[in-house]
Amino acid sequence: MHVCVICLLIFHRLAEMESQSKIMDRLRATFRSGVTVTEQFRRTQLNNLLSLVTENEQLIVDALHNDLNKPKFEAILSEVHMVLNDIYYALDHLKSWMQHEYVGKNMATRLDDCFIRREPLGVVLIIGAWNYPLQLIILPLIGAIAAGNCVVLKPSEISQATEKLLAELIPKYLSQDCYAVVCGGADETKELLEKKFDHIFYTGSQVVARIVLQAASVHLTPVTLELGGKSPCLIHGDLDIPSAARRLVWAKFFNAGQSCVAPDYVLCSTAMRDALLPALRDTLKSFYGEDIRTSPDMGRIVTPRHWTHLMELLGKSKGRVVIGGESDEGDRYIAPTVLVDVQESDVLMQEEIFGPILPIITIESLQEGIDFINRREKPLALYVFSDESSVVKNVLENTSSGGFCSNDGIVHMTLPGLPFGGVGASGCGSYHGRWSFETFSHRRGCMMRSWGLEKINGLRYPPYQERSLSWLRWATTAKSSWTSCSLM
Ligand code: NAD
Repeated sequence: MHVCVICLLIFHRLAEMESQSKIMDRLRATFRSGVTVTEQFRRTQLNNLLSLVTENEQLIVDALHNDLNKPKFEAILSEVHMVLNDIYYALDHLKSWMQHEYVGKNMATRLDDCFIRREPLGVVLIIGAWNYPLQLIILPLIGAIAAGNCVVLKPSEISQATEKLLAELIPKYLSQDCYAVVCGGADETKELLEKKFDHIFYTGSQVVARIVLQAASVHLTPVTLELGGKSPCLIHGDLDIPSAARRLVWAKFFNAGQSCVAPDYVLCSTAMRDALLPALRDTLKSFYGEDIRTSPDMGRIVTPRHWTHLMELLGKSKGRVVIGGESDEGDRYIAPTVLVDVQESDVLMQEEIFGPILPIITIESLQEGIDFINRREKPLALYVFSDESSVVKNVLENTSSGGFCSNDGIVHMTLPGLPFGGVGASGCGSYHGRWSFETFSHRRGCMMRSWGLEKINGLRYPPYQERSLSWLRWATTAKSSWTSCSLM
């Protein structure tokens, strides 16, 4: 009996492997046929994606509520609207993105056409995380479609309801020959990673990113890594404290703190901390009422496992809880919690918190804050709250992070004109708007040579002469005035 069960499991696994291979074969054959390349095809698929989101808005909101108790307001703002906005942006700009980009020339190439041609990469893999389960799959998909690729999508298995919905809707709205959804967890993802893709776009933790990178190295597949980290919020100098508290509370506790760009911790002086705490309490009350647990606007922790991990962190911290601290395991609830007297060595400062827990670290000077940030891995986002432009400039110029936003949190990632991505340990590569299109395109440098100017071109042929070298050096120096000149 036992042997039979094992045989069945092996059979099931082989069948699954075959189905992943079949998907790959189908997508590869479609890509080779060239159908994804035309502007018309890309537009049609983007419009279909638009219909998928608009026609199923309620189902999407329900799935997100199921997975994360995500309030409808947050679901629309940060998932539905965000992806619609990016689709409209891509449709508006697709024609110009697909145009050849002409580059500067020199005397020797004056008669040539020299340009960059954006070409699709092929069959690409997009792996998403659970905290914004729609956005993290659809936003990169927009770029991959716009750039003319075939795509395998691997949503997170942790946000089950959204995973199931995507698996149902994608084949209904988009070409099944070009786009496929693979469901499952670590095992299925590892199996996918054994296949040869032309690009892997991964969103998730640094731990799994190492597995992705290792797998990619086997086929020399390029990767984009959208990771997390501890994004600081440095508050310094003159500022309107109630406004700062509102923006900080909103950015930190949106999606119950489970945002990759949530402010992870606050750095400020003791005086600033003492002024900030009452403003934080007032703000929490005005946002979520006296009993936050009953507020429909507060999300929940995604799974019991994640809840337990956060509560363990809170339990081990040597910091002092001054706001919140309440929790309910059955409801996966953790109250917005603020801690003071948190040391750099504290357990809360060792990893990204990714939950509604906000430690405040006190510093004595702006320079101490900058040094604190620079001692650590480069964060995904860096926030500075200050009315003094010299403070903001100082922090901007003396630190590094994936993105930067002064006097607010999270909102910098809503503009499709700005590249979104990490640097160092918070990731590599970027997307949103044009940057997604660029991520999924190969920039092919093309030179269409004319037969003219053979006298100049002939200078490079042997037998080599010193005099020719001097002429060649002159003729091959790039000059901007020849950029747009072409005879072809
Ligand atoms: P997750 O557990 O959903 O994992 C992400 C993906 O990796 C899933 O599709 C999952 O199936 C797959 N996976 C998990 N374990 C695997 C394994 N052992 N081998 C192969 N694949 C595996 O999400 P997570 O990792 O908990 O995501 C949270 C992290 O993601 C946080 O650090 C957060 O900051 C980061 N994040 C970053 C961004 C961004 O845009 N930079 C956005 C959201 C989340």
